[in-house]
Amino acid sequence: MEISDLIVSQHDVKGKILVVDDQIVNVKIIKKLLQEDYDIFMATDGDQVIDVCMDLQPDMVLLDIEMPTVNGFEVCKQLKANPLTANIAVIFITAHFEEATEVKGLQLGAVDFIHKPINPIITKTRVKNQLMLKQQSDLLRSFAMYDALTGVANRRQFDQRFAANWRHCIRDKEPISIIMLDIDVFKQYNDNYGHQQGDNCLALVAKTIQQTLKRPCDLVARYGGEEFVCILPQTDFCGAEHKAKSIIDNINALKIEHGFSNVSDYITVSAGVATVVPHKEMQQDMLLELADKQLYLAKSNGRNQVASIEISNIS
Ligand code: GH3
Ligand code: MG
Ligand code: MG
Ligand code: MG
Repeated sequence: MEISDLIVSQHDVKGKILVVDDQIVNVKIIKKLLQEDYDIFMATDGDQVIDVCMDLQPDMVLLDIEMPTVNGFEVCKQLKANPLTANIAVIFITAHFEEATEVKGLQLGAVDFIHKPINPIITKTRVKNQLMLKQQSDLLRSFAMYDALTGVANRRQFDQRFAANWRHCIRDKEPISIIMLDIDVFKQYNDNYGHQQGDNCLALVAKTIQQTLKRPCDLVARYGGEEFVCILPQTDFCGAEHKAKSIIDNINALKIEHGFSNVSDYITVSAGVATVVPHKEMQQDMLLELADKQLYLAKSNGRNQVASIEISNIS
């Protein structure tokens, strides 16, 4: 996904709101009031809220305070303590008017209060304002995950995804593969065609790598200046090597003129592949180091090619 796509998608999305109140009649009043502008989901028990929020990922929870099983304060505390639900905006809906209640709610991380019996215009406006703020901060958070020049994932997103994929593959005893890619003789390209054209070339190479990866769980990230890294979870050695070759072919097919390369008349990349079925005692950085070594080998073997290694499990 590119940054411009992110902005567009934020505008297209109808906000998702979960309404929680032990009195179904209250839930229905709010649903009726908001259903034209938002996708409304309902719960009548504090116990369900965390699970529902993990699955549903609503933008906002409108949360009653007084509920028999788990009260709203406790639900809010749990939502804010969980990284998967912490960014959901919480507005308390309450019949209480005491300052102490409001202070407690705000200190727990709620963004606003609505008082019962609800005033339709105030409720609509508060929801709209807070939802706008939530969606703006979502957008900022997503910018922090992408490389500005190429639009692919940045190093931070790579680190998070690699750690999560690694754990997942340990649990499922599945292989995980890394492809390290580096543009060949790129210093000569920059020095001769200029930095701006160098930047354009980087963006096109990034896009081509991204388009070559087809599975939704695959990720390409900018790893350094003219280096990219792909994570291919649940992908075995043959599959990863095949992908790396396709990337190299697709970059060759771009035919980006490079009159100062001793490898080809066009821009080329080299790739290092490493695959393992990880287990608990293994360090995930080891896989990156091995892919990097293979990349070095591909470079010293003449560039514009893949070198690969499959790590056998000696446990
Ligand atoms: P090799 O085939 O061994 O990889 O040689 P190389 O010239 O590609 O490698 P080297 O590490 O010597 O040079 C990398 C060059 O990549 C240095 C710099 O000119 C260029 N580069 C790195 N980051 C950027 C960037 O963000 N924009 C542009 N335009 N160029 C960059
Ligand atoms: Mg209640
Ligand atoms: Mg390099
Ligand atoms: Mg290079």
